[in-house]
Amino acid sequence: MACVLHCRLKRNVMIVYFIVAYLIFTFLVTALAVNRRISMGNAFTLSFFLTPLLGLLAILKTDKTIKITHYATKYHCPRCQAEFNTHKEYCPSCLAEGVKVKPEQAEIKLAG
Ligand SMILES: [Zn+2]
Repeated sequence: MACVLHCRLKRNVMIVYFIVAYLIFTFLVTALAVNRRISMGNAFTLSFFLTPLLGLLAILKTDKTIKITHYATKYHCPRCQAEFNTHKEYCPSCLAEGVKVKPEQAEIKLAG
């Protein structure tokens, strides 16, 4: 009698452990969705209902969010490589040396 009760208790503890582990994995997988093109809600639903493993695969397949940290048109001097944000007729540092150099428009910089 004591064994039956003990074994049933042991099985229930196993189920609780499994549920706790499942939830921990679900939250870990959801946390991976940060900075990705999938919402936290979608990531959570995916990993909760389709197991965290499938959720993880789905999240890893999504693209990372592109962060624009710097977006500016820059001008740079072809002679001294000086960079400035505003258009100038001649490069000021080259002009100080007595050389008139027209700055070139540099490409837009994207950092992510
Ligand atoms: Zn210059």
